[in-house]
Amino acid sequence: MENRQELQSLLDRTAAVCRSLTGDGRQATYIPELATVDPTLFAVSAVTLDGAVLSSGDTEARFSMQSMSKVMSLAFALERLGYGEVFSHVGMEPSSEPFNSIMKLEMTSAKPLNPFINSGSIVMAGLLAERLGSGVIKDMLDFASRMTGNKGGLVVNERVYMSESSTADRNRALAYFMHSSGTLSFDVEKSLDLYFRLCSIEVGTADLAVMGATLANAGKNPVTGERITSLDTSYTVLGIMSVCGLYDESGEFAVKAGIPAKSGVSGGIVCAVPGRMGLAVFSPPLDKGGNSVAGMETVSRLSRELKLRGI
Ligand code: GLU
Repeated sequence: MENRQELQSLLDRTAAVCRSLTGDGRQATYIPELATVDPTLFAVSAVTLDGAVLSSGDTEARFSMQSMSKVMSLAFALERLGYGEVFSHVGMEPSSEPFNSIMKLEMTSAKPLNPFINSGSIVMAGLLAERLGSGVIKDMLDFASRMTGNKGGLVVNERVYMSESSTADRNRALAYFMHSSGTLSFDVEKSLDLYFRLCSIEVGTADLAVMGATLANAGKNPVTGERITSLDTSYTVLGIMSVCGLYDESGEFAVKAGIPAKSGVSGGIVCAVPGRMGLAVFSPPLDKGGNSVAGMETVSRLSRELKLRGI
């Protein structure tokens, strides 16, 4: 069991050092609403498997999940539709291409390599929208709220959603290309609409750390005690996070931190350390790969100090 005082003091020390380590990082601007976020914000949270929620930095900061929502969406899809159906539409291999790349799709015309790159996640959204109908976003928000233990209930940030859906040429190109080749067999605009809404769900680092802790705790939320996913679902999601979580820097992150994680272009990283804890960090400036510079350094330091390495 983790010592809470020592863990809090480690979070405080790490936050003090890492919040300014943004190097040449730049926050994302291709979604206009993300460019309005204060780039100096920094927050880190840890949630232990006995239910302690510890945070440091700008703990009130709220931001959109962006690609971190893909962790929750995969867990939800596995629970509702099952492993066979999910992986008949997407693969489970790293891509070694940028998250919004169209290249591999064109070269192979096969299904998207994994559910964490944009093409795979748009296909997953289309599958969920088709199978579960118009109530799907409400169901997914409810699932996400239970997985993060958020009492008030998570919501979509409408400004981010509008900003994202009105400037999404690249994601539209991906979706229409996949539709033309039969990889995306669902309604394109409905697939994209659900995808944009999921990316725009607003969270704080404590929410994300509870989500990570739920996966680290074999699918049971350690704060609320509620079972959210099966053991098998948690293992599957952790496996995909291990190899596909940080875009085409997943290998580098595995070497530096060695724990299952997923980043998003808002500047967050959510981590799940099986049998130990959930972690989350937020700092908007990103490196060339689209990962938070201070976030990667924070997780690497915490992993080293707490001996969290597990992959
Ligand atoms: N909504 C973002 C996009 O589709 C998500 C990207 C990310 O966080 O990786 O471009």
